[in-house]
Amino acid sequence: MTQSFDPPRRLTIMGSTGSIGTSTLDVIRQQGGRDCFEIMALTGNSNIALLAEQAITTGAKLAVTADETQYKALQDALSGHGIAVAAGASGLQEAASLEADWVMAAIVGVAGLKPTLTAAARGADIALANKECLVSAGDLFIETIRKSGGRLLPVDSEHSAIFQCLDERHRDAVERIVLTASGGPFRSFSREQMADVDVETARAHPNWSMGLKVSVGSASMFNKALEMIEAKFLFDLAPEQVEVIIHPQSIIHSMVGYTDGSVLAQLGVPDMRTAIGYALSYPHRQPLDVDRLDFARLSRLDFEAPDEKRFPALRLARQVLERGGLQGAVFSAAEEAAFDAFVAGHIRFLAMADVVEEVMDDMKHLPKANSLDDIFAADAEAHRRAKDCVSRKAL
Ligand code: NAD
Ligand code: MG
Repeated sequence: MTQSFDPPRRLTIMGSTGSIGTSTLDVIRQQGGRDCFEIMALTGNSNIALLAEQAITTGAKLAVTADETQYKALQDALSGHGIAVAAGASGLQEAASLEADWVMAAIVGVAGLKPTLTAAARGADIALANKECLVSAGDLFIETIRKSGGRLLPVDSEHSAIFQCLDERHRDAVERIVLTASGGPFRSFSREQMADVDVETARAHPNWSMGLKVSVGSASMFNKALEMIEAKFLFDLAPEQVEVIIHPQSIIHSMVGYTDGSVLAQLGVPDMRTAIGYALSYPHRQPLDVDRLDFARLSRLDFEAPDEKRFPALRLARQVLERGGLQGAVFSAAEEAAFDAFVAGHIRFLAMADVVEEVMDDMKHLPKANSLDDIFAADAEAHRRAKDCVSRKAL
């Protein structure tokens, strides 16, 4: 059964061609498709064939490629369909400005920051998959949402789990949140074993199917590090209230601990459509065709403490939480540059954390951000320093 909204809810999906974007379109299809929703804009980058197909199937009003060189290709692919076409940074801004009620922010990396802030500032509900937005510009982002009156709906599975377990009636009794982490493909590797791993091994996540950055980030635990910072801003927590536990089965997606000793957990099969569906239906729940947990076959749930020596990303995230200010923007930029360098074969897997730590230490005395310009300036400087550092560590 699907619920129809009257008039149809207007949706925009930024990053529709990615892993979260395609899952979002599947959830929309399952929950009523064109009968219930009007797609205002879809955005992608280089996969023009998929973007065009999505725009035609959903009847989107606007399709945007972030890659300006692909403008003509997108125009050709959509010719005769009555769908407006735009490209580049201004195209993303145009998509974010259209009057959608609900915007899925699923562009990867800091490229998603400006359009997501634009959509947030005009009061849209933001379904937030892009964690880099909050890591780079947490204070500004939360302030923008607060002023505009839109809702911030977490999509990252851990944060969706916390959102589902966090009982607003007992907000003052929240003692801690516990983010679960699968531990990724190198959970039981020594540092020596991690020294020579390649991109293909690093991206092979044991439980989740995801885009490249988040998959490699799961192997290095930089993804969990970003999520610790994301959680701080989403749920207004002190650094010591954010915990991480390794849970290899990825069945418990995260937990909230209360001052009376109770812990509430959200469980499910590892499928992002559940978190996306919750953000789309909130404050209700709608049926979804995803696999169900079979407890009789599960037999066990395991936990182990994270090892910050083998996975220094977690220690670095704690430093960001304690230092505050622009350290988040620096961390996010350095992590993105280090990830790009690893994927391009310029540095080894373990060098990613060395690059990030060096840039963070170099830039730890920056003042607090007052504007988006301050954040972009810190981002650009951290990228520059990370590149220097990469060239010194280059293979
Ligand atoms: P992905 O790489 O599969 O897709 C990224 C999307 O962004 C694509 O549509 C791509 O075209 C677009 N894009 C890439 N570069 C761009 C640029 N420079 N400008 C504009 N658009 C660009 O990534 P994903 O796995 O879907 O992840 C998207 C975001 O969601 C990330 O921030 C990730 O951390 C977060 N997230 C993903 C998952 C997951 O299961 N995949 C889970 C939790 C959070
Ligand atoms: Mg996650």
